[in-house]
Amino acid sequence: MSEILPVGIDLGTTNSVIARIAGESVPEVIPNAEGESITPSVVWIGERGVVVGTDAKEQMSEGNPDTAAFFKRHMGNLSLPFFLGAKQYSAVDLSAFVLSKLKRDAEERLGRPIAHAVITVPAYFEDPQRNATIAAGTKAGLDVLEIISEPTAAAFAYGLHQTGREENILVYDLGGGTFDVSIVRLTPQEFTVLATKGDHGLGGKDWDDILSDYVLDRFRDEFGVDPLSHGLPRGELLMLAETAKKTLSGVMSTVVNFHHSGHRLRLELTREDFESRTSHLMEATRSLCNEVLKDAGLNWQLLTGVLLVGGSTRMPMVTDYVRQMSGGAPLTGIHPDHAVAVGAAIRAARLLDERTPHKPHFRLPGPKKIQDVVAHPLGMISETDDGSRYTNSIIINKYLGVPCSNTRPFQLYTSPGNGNEMEVYLTQGESTDPVDCTVIARWHAAGIEHDPSGLQVIDVEYSYTGNMTVDATARLRSTGRTIPLTKESDLGDLSWIRQPPRRKGKRQHITAYLAVDLSGSMAGAGVAAAQRAAREFVQQSDLSKCSIGIIEFADRVKVTCPACQDAGQLESAIAPLEPHVLCSRVGVGNAATPFATAHQILRDVTGARFIIVLTDGHWSCCPQAIQESVACRADGIQTIAVGTEQSNADFLKQISSSEAGSFYAKQHEVVGIFSSIARELTETAGGTKRALRLK
Ligand code: AMP
Repeated sequence: MSEILPVGIDLGTTNSVIARIAGESVPEVIPNAEGESITPSVVWIGERGVVVGTDAKEQMSEGNPDTAAFFKRHMGNLSLPFFLGAKQYSAVDLSAFVLSKLKRDAEERLGRPIAHAVITVPAYFEDPQRNATIAAGTKAGLDVLEIISEPTAAAFAYGLHQTGREENILVYDLGGGTFDVSIVRLTPQEFTVLATKGDHGLGGKDWDDILSDYVLDRFRDEFGVDPLSHGLPRGELLMLAETAKKTLSGVMSTVVNFHHSGHRLRLELTREDFESRTSHLMEATRSLCNEVLKDAGLNWQLLTGVLLVGGSTRMPMVTDYVRQMSGGAPLTGIHPDHAVAVGAAIRAARLLDERTPHKPHFRLPGPKKIQDVVAHPLGMISETDDGSRYTNSIIINKYLGVPCSNTRPFQLYTSPGNGNEMEVYLTQGESTDPVDCTVIARWHAAGIEHDPSGLQVIDVEYSYTGNMTVDATARLRSTGRTIPLTKESDLGDLSWIRQPPRRKGKRQHITAYLAVDLSGSMAGAGVAAAQRAAREFVQQSDLSKCSIGIIEFADRVKVTCPACQDAGQLESAIAPLEPHVLCSRVGVGNAATPFATAHQILRDVTGARFIIVLTDGHWSCCPQAIQESVACRADGIQTIAVGTEQSNADFLKQISSSEAGSFYAKQHEVVGIFSSIARELTETAGGTKRALRLK
C-alpha cells in the first residue's frame, strides 16, 4: 500500500466531497464519520463546539441562528463576516471548518494522516477567492498542492475512461451555488481547456428560492398571513422547496404540504409548471454555453459530448437541453456528485508522483498533462489619455495558457530622497471601465530612490501562477535592483475610481500612432518584421500613461485600432499582420500617406503626440507625404520614420521631426529600433523631461 495519501477535495457551495486513489489506481470517495459520501457545507457553532455537515444543516432548517451555509459565495470578501454564537467568522474560517472535518474523518477512517490535497474551485473564481481557498486549506492543516478548476477536475475523472481519440467536450457544471461551463480538449496525452465561463451567483439554490417564494405567495394569498413575519425560519421553507424540486426530477408532479399558524396549504406542483417558472435560470446557463462555444471557436455539432457535473444537473430540464442542443445523451461514466473530488484526487496523485519521478506510487490511465487558461483578463487601473477618468488597461489577455506572465514598464516621477512610492491597482475583468471589474489587490512598493532626471522606470512582471492566482515582481530599470512589492488585499474605499483623476502637474500623457506600410512589397518578411516591431513597441510602453493606436496604409489608409491603453485590444489589431496574409485591406500599391488621417485624429488630443511610420519603400505620393508631415509638426505632433529595404534616407528625414527621428535600417533591426523608441518615450515621459533622444 502507498505510504503517502494525497487527497482531492471538492469544497462545494452546498456539499463537499473528499476522495483518494486507493492502491495504485482506484479512485474512491472517502465517507465521513456519519458514513455519508457527501458532507453538507454547513457549519453550526453550538455547545458541542464546531459541528459540520448533516446535523448543522438540520439545525439551520430549524432556524438556529448559530449556523452558516453558502459562505463559499463570499470567499475573498473581507467585508462580509458571519456571526455565529458570540463570535465573528470569515468565509475562510468557515471553509476551514469544513475542510478540517473532511480531513479528520478521512484520517480516522483510513487510520493514516493526510497532509497533501488538491482543492477545487469554480473555474470562474478570481484571484481573491482562489487565495482565500488556499488560506482555508492551510488553516485546516493541509499542504495545498494546487487549486484546480472544478470542470477541469471533472474532465480528469472522465479522462480515466478515455477512448484514446481526440475529444472536445463541454463540461456543464451546475451545483448548489455556482454554474461553470468549460470546453476541454482531451487527447491521450493532454487536457487543454479551450474556453471557460461561469456565474458564481447561479446554482440549485436559485431554483429553490423561486419555488419557496411561490409557496409563500400562495400561502399569503390564501390565508392573508405572512409566515416569515410570524416566526417561520426561511431555512425550513427552503428545505421544503428543495425536497419538492428533487422529487420533480423523478416524477411529473408532486404535492407540497405546508403548515403554519394553524393553516395548511396543499399545493399541487407539476414539472411543467416548475420548469416554466425557472426557465429564465436555464436561459442564463444556455447563453453562457453559447458564449463559451463561440470563444472556443466551436459549435454544438463539433462537440464530442457533454459532461454533466453537479447535483443540479439531475433536473430533467438540464438533460433535455443537452439532448436538444447536442443531438445525443450526455456522456456517462462519471458520478455527478463525485467526479470533481475524484478528478482532484487523480491530480493530487499525479503531482506527488512528479516530485519523485524515479519512484512513482500510482499507475493511472488517461492524459497526464493539463493546460488551463486565464479565465479573467488581468488589468491595471490607469488614467485615460485625456485624464478625464480612470480606465482598465489589460496586461494579460483572456485564454492565454497558465502559467503566464507579462512585463510592463511603469513610470514613476520621483522627488529627492528615498521616500518615493509606487502603487498599482490590479483588476480582473473584460471591461475598460474599472467599475465593472474586480479590483483584486493593491501592489505597493516603498523606498524607491530618486533619479536625477525626476523619472524612474520600473519594470513590473505580472504573472498568473498555475493556481491561477496573480503575482507581481518589480525591478528598477536604471540599476536593475529588485524592488520588494507588498500585496494589500484590503483595498479600503474604492469610490475614487468613479471620480475624475486629480491631475499631477508634471504628468503628460503620450498618444502614439504606429503607421505600418502594408504595400505589396512588404508581404512576407516585411510584414512579419512589422508585426514583431509593433508587439515590441506595445510591450515596452507604459500603457498606464500611454495610448497606442495602429494605422495600416498602402493605396488606402485604415485605422485598425484607435489609440487605447489595452494590450489585449492592441494584440487583436497586430495579430492579423501575418506574413502570409495579403495586405488587401488597404490595397497593394503605395498611393496613400497616413499623416493626414493621424493628424485628424491627434489634432485635439492633449499631451505628447507621435506618429511613427514603418515603411520599406519609396511612395508615389512623396511630396504630399512631406507636406502632410510638416502640417503635423506645425500642430506639435512629432513624427518618426523607420525605413527598410528600398526606402530613401532623404525622404525619411523629410517626414521626420528631426534627423534623430529617422532611421534607415535592415529588416532584422526594426524590432530593436521600435523597442528603443518605446523605451525612450517611456523614459522621457513623452519628451516632457528632456528632448526625445533617439539613437
Ligand atoms: P452540488 O453542489 O454539486 O452538491 O449540488 C447541490 C445541488 O444539487 C443542490 O442545489 C441540490 O438541491 C441539487 N440536487 C441534488 N439532487 C437533485 C435532484 N435529484 N434534482 C434536482 N436537484 C438536485
